[in-house]
Amino acid sequence: MFALVDQVAVITGAASGIGAATARRFAEAGAHVALGVYSPDGHDVDAVRTDIEALGRRAVVVEVDVGAPDSVDALVDRTLGDFGRLDIAVANAAIARRRPSIELDDAEWGNTLNIDLTGVWRLFRACLAPMKEARYGRLLATASTAGVFEAWEEHAHYSAAKAGITGLVRSLAAEVGPSGITVNAISPGIIETPQTLDSVNSLGADGVAETGRRQPIRRVGQPDDIAAAYHFLASPDASFVTGHVLLVDGGRMLIRG
Ligand code: NAD
Repeated sequence: MFALVDQVAVITGAASGIGAATARRFAEAGAHVALGVYSPDGHDVDAVRTDIEALGRRAVVVEVDVGAPDSVDALVDRTLGDFGRLDIAVANAAIARRRPSIELDDAEWGNTLNIDLTGVWRLFRACLAPMKEARYGRLLATASTAGVFEAWEEHAHYSAAKAGITGLVRSLAAEVGPSGITVNAISPGIIETPQTLDSVNSLGADGVAETGRRQPIRRVGQPDDIAAAYHFLASPDASFVTGHVLLVDGGRMLIRG
């Protein structure tokens, strides 16, 4: 069930958090993985690569800046060159920077949209030709509850980008469904990762722990919680699910305050 044996996945933001957990999960299900990493952030991808190889799968580490079209094209070219096929793409990389809207200038707005929304589109676009030729593909993106199901104050740029992913996913799903390609997103709630543990731009460790205590599923979300949902959406078993934005939040959107 949900087998990915000998399939090939490309994942951005694969050196940390949700991306790293998803890479490991896909490898456990049988996939080989191209790990898109952004070294200026200083995450160590070696542990992810080692874990994948210990499972008997192949991993390649590829530098990528999703803010640059050539870089994303090169990631997909390298994946196809090394593995000879591409079944699954997870557009997961993003930045979240706290900025009161009165201070949010065009440059910072544009940079966030460029990475968090256009970066998703760049990966999807680069995968379309090979997936159409194979008449099979799973295009997946990490959205958020922010902008999609709730507000996030001082993150108007991030929220706009994440809301944009939902429009992209729904429209593209309708367009490429006839080619055997599904397009879906996940909206994670509060997951314990470098993004949320950043107390300047997000909740910080105390805020994450407090959220865990208050939400209906009485614990903090972990990257594996999102990886498990990605595993299903990435699998052939999800062939009738497309244009969907899946909320995975421990029930947090059910409660007020
Ligand atoms: P994270 O900070 O560990 O992951 C973000 C990854 O994106 C990092 O590996 C980083 O190096 C990479 N990245 C940043 N800029 C990049 C660039 N220009 N090019 C390529 N890669 C770049 O945090 P995470 O929580 O695992 O984030 C993964 C995704 O989940 C993001 O899209 C984030 O917005 C989303 N998300 C996270 C939460 C949460 O609670 N953690 C909630 C909702 C959405």
